[in-house]
Order: sequence, then C-alpha cells, then structure tokens
Amino acid sequence: MDCIFCRIAAGSLPATRILETDDVVAFRDLNPRAPTHVLVIPRLHRASLDALGADEAHLAGALLLATAEVARLEGVADSGYRVVANTGEEGGQTVDHLHFHVLGGRPLGWPPG
Ligand code: AMP
Repeated sequence: MDCIFCRIAAGSLPATRILETDDVVAFRDLNPRAPTHVLVIPRLHRASLDALGADEAHLAGALLLATAEVARLEGVADSGYRVVANTGEEGGQTVDHLHFHVLGGRPLGWPPG
C-alpha cells in the first residue's frame, strides 16, 4: 500500500484522528495552515474528486456531512470555516487520495493566491 492516506485510513500510519465512520476518516493535517486544519478522506482509495463515480453519491454525501461534523467538533461551526478539495495539478493537489481540507479558527482570505 503506497498511498499515505490509505495507510492512515488502515491505521498503519499514525495520525491524530478527529472522527471515523464506516466510510470516512478525519485527521489533523501534519502542516496546519490554520488553527483548525483537518483532512477528511474516504476509506476507499479515490485519487481525487474527479475520480468519484456517478454511482458514489452516498460516499460524496458522507464526506460532506463529515466535514460539517468536524467543524462542529472543532468548535468553528459558528465562527465560520472553509472546505477545500484541491484537485489535480493546477488545483494544487499533492496527495493523490481524495481529501477535503477543513480550515478555520482565523479569518481566511479570498480568493486564494
Ligand atoms: P493537498 O496539497 O491538497 O493534496 O493536501 C495534502 C495535505 O496532506 C497537505 O496539507 C499536507 O500537509 C497533508 N499531509 C501530507 N502527509 C500527511 C500525513 N502523513 N498526515 C497528515 N497530513 C498529511
């Protein structure tokens, strides 16, 4: 298994886990860009948002619901937060396993650079 996020999902690579369901794992980003910076991933390997199948609406929904739950658990739901899925080369994706960043705990500028 050479995908680092598959290894985190399987428990063979350590991570600070925030939430786990049958479909989804959320853990703290190793290089946080905000006081709250959590990654939400599917347990199943999907390379990016672009690789989610048309028949995977349940998984897409589970991921989005988990991001909102992470924000509540992290205490940023009321102050506000951002959900980002960097996708592909120009999208700035560096790990090829679909993940949503949940960022919060400080004012976030827009648009990103
Ligand atoms: P992206 O650049 O959108 O693909 O995001 C990948 C994110 O994964 C980056 O923010 C990294 O800091 C984070 N990351 C890489 N390796 C690990 C790891 N072992 N544990 C937690 N976060 C990681």
